Amino acid sequence: MTTLVQHQHVETQIVESYVAEVYELVKKRNPNESEFHQAVKEVFDSLVPVLVENPKYMEHGILERMVEPERVISFQIPWIDDQGTVRVNRGFRVQFNSAIGPYKGGLRFHPSVNASIVKFLGFEQIFKNSLTGQPIGGGKGGSDFDPKGKSDREIMRFTQSFMSELSKYIGPDVDVPAGDIGVGAREIGYMFGQYKKIRGAYEAGVLTGKGLNYGGSLGRKEATGYGTVYFVEEMLRDSGRGFKGSTVVVSGSGNVSIYAIEKAHQLGAKVVACSDSSGYIYDEQGINLETVKRLKEVEGKRISEYVEEHPNAQYHSGCSGIWSIPCDIALPCATQNEIDEIAAKLLVSNGVIAVGEGANMPSTLEAISIFHEKKVLFGPAKAVNAGGVAVSALEMAQNSMRLSWTLDEVDTKLQEIMKNIYTNSINAANEYNAPGNLVVGANIAGFKKVADAMIAQGVI
Ligand code: NDP
Repeated sequence: MTTLVQHQHVETQIVESYVAEVYELVKKRNPNESEFHQAVKEVFDSLVPVLVENPKYMEHGILERMVEPERVISFQIPWIDDQGTVRVNRGFRVQFNSAIGPYKGGLRFHPSVNASIVKFLGFEQIFKNSLTGQPIGGGKGGSDFDPKGKSDREIMRFTQSFMSELSKYIGPDVDVPAGDIGVGAREIGYMFGQYKKIRGAYEAGVLTGKGLNYGGSLGRKEATGYGTVYFVEEMLRDSGRGFKGSTVVVSGSGNVSIYAIEKAHQLGAKVVACSDSSGYIYDEQGINLETVKRLKEVEGKRISEYVEEHPNAQYHSGCSGIWSIPCDIALPCATQNEIDEIAAKLLVSNGVIAVGEGANMPSTLEAISIFHEKKVLFGPAKAVNAGGVAVSALEMAQNSMRLSWTLDEVDTKLQEIMKNIYTNSINAANEYNAPGNLVVGANIAGFKKVADAMIAQGVI
């Protein structure tokens, strides 16, 4: 396949059929992994003009190599619940690409986790990490363990068992996991303790999202949510708008959502709705974030309880209804494929002007097409939510230097990084004839750096 290409410029048609052929191979090799297929398709659709201009990427088999993880680890996690019953979950780590740095990406604990979910997240992570400008490769992991309703002791026993196996494959220069859905500071703490015990060494840089008193970075907790808002503010600036005075809807009420709401409020927006996996709240006067933080971060309660303290607000069960609320800016910050074609049409008909993906792949391919067609400003996840992993890389840097930066220093760096991601993505989109299309721009800008590093390092 690759030897076909020997000329400097190849016809678009040849490239298109090459890309389609590799995509078919992905589907054949990874049957029943629809989320992974979706993530690959979104990237591949952007790359045709880059391959036309740079046939070397085909000669070096870059696409074929990028879609095949360097290593996939799947393992058993046995643990004992509070009733003394032995339970078994499945753990994953996908080490996708290490061309520009050690594998880096979060761990997700959620019953929906399977090979497809971990592979889509790991694949996206390659490009996201490249966009941050930091030296980090792409990886992702997790387990089908459901943290809901588990006691603190059960969480500890489970995470220790998880790390007993994962510790064989990670290290500060090898693979550096972090949190994601269901994995926050508590879980990272237990995992770090277990890793330290197994290794007999204090390797602070092996995990990020650590507590501040043992190697964590100021600003990491806030980074993904704040970064999401910084990116969308850049997007809006180009059309003379901003968060100030806007009405915003944010889905989810976890780590990303809470700090996206906080920053949006700080910039003068009114966030009127947020959700959890059971339903959503609508508070016309603007959400009281202190209540949400206490309910979700401290007490681990359902978002429905918000209306007991704020009787003017409404609670509706089910997640998708949140997109029927009129807003200027929508920030999906919960999970994949939460905005489908119907939700996208509702948002458009209610006058949304910008959508920024705080979660990973929250919009279906059909929803993205609608946003593009209707000229809604659309920020794709791998650019918009890259602030989390960017500050994770800053945490690794501080761990290596054995010093800590102030919150202001970290936040200033985060703002610069988000600005650069926006500029690089918009420039790549313009250069490759897709003005304003940040999906294409982010994919291309993220891809080129990794692809060039892979070529430089040979076929290994
Ligand atoms: P959290 O576990 O902190 O919060 C997730 C939130 O989304 C919760 O409110 C949860 O509800 C809700 N949720 C989870 N699954 C579903 C579902 N199937 N349907 C509806 N709502 C759901 O996770 P994060 O905030 O860390 O992650 C959210 C998203 O952001 C994910 O896509 C993640 O991959 C992405 N992301 C996270 C980063 C980070 O630094 N944390 C970095 C980059 C991306 P409930 O409370 O009921 O569980």
